[in-house]
Amino acid sequence: MKIPVNFSIFVSISHHLNSQFMTIFLTPKLETVLPKIKAIVQDQIIPLEADFLQHNFSKVKPKLEAIRQLVKQEGLWNPHLSSAHGGLGLSLVEFGQISEVLGHTPYGHYCFNCNAPDIGNQELILGNASEHIKDTFLAPLLKGNIRSCFSMTEPEFAGSNPTEMDTSAVKDGDNYIINGHKWFTSSADGASFAVVMANTNPDAENKYQRASMIVVPTDTKGFELVCNIPVMGEANDDYFSHGEVRYTNCKVPLKNLIGIEGAGFSLAQQRLGPGRIHHCMRWIGICERAFDLMCKHAASRDLGNGVKLGQKQSIQNFIAESRAEINAARFMVLHTALKIDNEGAKAARIEISTIKFYVANVLQRVLDRAVQTHGALGLTDYTVLSFWYRHERAARIYDGPDEVHKAALARQILKGYGLNTKVV
Ligand SMILES: Cc1cc2nc3c(=O)[nH]c(=O)nc-3n(C[C@H](O)[C@H](O)[C@H](O)COP(=O)(O)OP(=O)(O)OC[C@H]3O[C@@H](n4cnc5c(N)ncnc54)[C@H](O)[C@@H]3O)c2cc1C
Repeated sequence: MKIPVNFSIFVSISHHLNSQFMTIFLTPKLETVLPKIKAIVQDQIIPLEADFLQHNFSKVKPKLEAIRQLVKQEGLWNPHLSSAHGGLGLSLVEFGQISEVLGHTPYGHYCFNCNAPDIGNQELILGNASEHIKDTFLAPLLKGNIRSCFSMTEPEFAGSNPTEMDTSAVKDGDNYIINGHKWFTSSADGASFAVVMANTNPDAENKYQRASMIVVPTDTKGFELVCNIPVMGEANDDYFSHGEVRYTNCKVPLKNLIGIEGAGFSLAQQRLGPGRIHHCMRWIGICERAFDLMCKHAASRDLGNGVKLGQKQSIQNFIAESRAEINAARFMVLHTALKIDNEGAKAARIEISTIKFYVANVLQRVLDRAVQTHGALGLTDYTVLSFWYRHERAARIYDGPDEVHKAALARQILKGYGLNTKVV
């Protein structure tokens, strides 16, 4: 489907550079829903941040539940899904812009039930799983009654080359017996099921056809959440955690297999394409919030004798560089989303790699400048900047480290110059 892009609005004169820029991909659907979503983010979710920065997630959860009910009442629940599945029926370009707004606060996506890793699992199951899996696991997930997690990475093996992983799923009658050790299974604490990547066909000649994805309910005997891993000084809990998990002789029925045996890596690729758009647009949302905080502080912080921080050229450089980088990043991500909408994720593989490392680095630079502009205040938990500064360092690592995506892009380019790009 071709996405209607409203270029005419882009050329309209606006004295607010960003709001002018924002309108380039605006569609009539977004014009209706975005203001409602912005209002909920501004008026309901951001005011809870002070609570969140001082307490673990589970403490704030009851207040978030109330907001989730409001989101449902407003008809904004599951914005990423098609209308047939109770969502807003948006293109990826449209949903990307919602993801940006939700990214203005660490809870945004959770309140709208489109938070990772659930959103990826929902899309994965919807597109590939049996009616049994849809009825048993997807239906309550879509209602927001349960949460899920995605369990692929293992501490003992390089996650950037998951074909090396060790977890096995061996057939035993009508069941799989799963054994393995995973970590960074985000949000495992309190999840009702895990989508586990395990080797079912270890002898397959093609190493990308050895693994499968299998649904493991977390109340299965042998499923053990070893701990919530401390990350940058904080383990947190519940949805805001990264679990170390052991699977010891976990017995699950064969019907818990997603798709066909050996399809694990191709499913993982499917899961990651749109997922990277979601992450990148969320990061742009974080950038915009950090940018706003930086500008407000620059305009109000008095250095003495009535001189404001924003009157110093070095701070003006921070602001100008950040504005340019965020705008460029947004263009790149929405352009990639447009390509996925029109040609599919496979056709946009290189664009997806490009935005993954580019936007993660823009995010890091913008956050760093915002922290610097705030001075000591930037390091405290009195603003949300320090939370993001700690947690979003991971953006350059998860869903593929920078180096892997850069190599993919460069190899593709060099191929055009006739260089043999086979990995050495
Ligand atoms: C916050 C966070 C959340 C996560 N959530 C999940 C989750 O929910 N589920 C899940 O299964 N996993 C999750 N992960 C794991 C994530 O997918 C892996 O960390 C990632 O794939 C990298 O694997 P690794 O950490 O084992 O690093 P390694 O593969 O050991 O790589 C280490 C470093 O080596 C470099 N490197 C790697 N390969 C190359 C290369 N080819 N060329 C040059 N340099 C290279 C990179 O700098 C890389 O950072 C999460 C990770 C983080 C940090």
